[in-house]
Amino acid sequence: PDYQMFKDVDAYIADHFIVDDPALDAAEAAAESAGLPNIAVSPVLGKYLYLLAKLMGARRILEIGTLGGYSTTWLARALPEDGHVVTLEYEPKHAGVARANLDRAAVGPWVEIIVGEAVASLRELEERGEPPFDMVFIDADKENYVNYLDWSIKLCRPGALIIADNVVRDGRVLDPTSNDPRVQGVQAFNDALAKNPRVEAIVTQMVGQKGYDGIALARLRE
Ligand code: SAM
Repeated sequence: PDYQMFKDVDAYIADHFIVDDPALDAAEAAAESAGLPNIAVSPVLGKYLYLLAKLMGARRILEIGTLGGYSTTWLARALPEDGHVVTLEYEPKHAGVARANLDRAAVGPWVEIIVGEAVASLRELEERGEPPFDMVFIDADKENYVNYLDWSIKLCRPGALIIADNVVRDGRVLDPTSNDPRVQGVQAFNDALAKNPRVEAIVTQMVGQKGYDGIALARLRE
């Protein structure tokens, strides 16, 4: 299906609720001209993440998967003056585009980008003895989603919010015979999330500009 009506409604929602945003437009253009893949969150999901961060009163946010810093910008804008985002990215080229985009959007001073394999960076964060995070946004390689869940639980405060993108994958999450490692990764993640006694969680289907997918939302128990 082409989901045209859902895409049209997504555009309608964006027109209504998201004001013109030169910094984010420039970030999208810079990512495109640098040849980055078009896999950032949609503007509507970006604002959704921003509102969740504000509702959480989040001061410290961890993001796994930076790309060009599009979602990072939304998250950083939700922070109070003394807030901080740590975002993890494997590709130096993506991190470079993100750094320029974040600086242009005037949120650079609030954001640390750690370049490298995210699991290694998460270990480094633990070793650093960082204060716990209030919110995590998981949006990198699906094969490691279960690891990212375990690390998020380890690095967050009680009551924290953990969000993971792309956990429905056009409905392919229903296929138990799928041999796509990304589908298998999110299937394992959803199973692990549902069973983990440390969290209360749900998955919400999402449909719009970027097709049909879903996000998982989990709250770390006290
Ligand atoms: N959150 C971004 C946004 O919405 O603007 C999009 C992130 S994109 C879907 C996923 C990113 O994760 C890519 O930039 C990719 O290079 C990065 N990535 C993939 N595997 C990774 C790994 N093992 N460690 C760190 N980053 C990784």
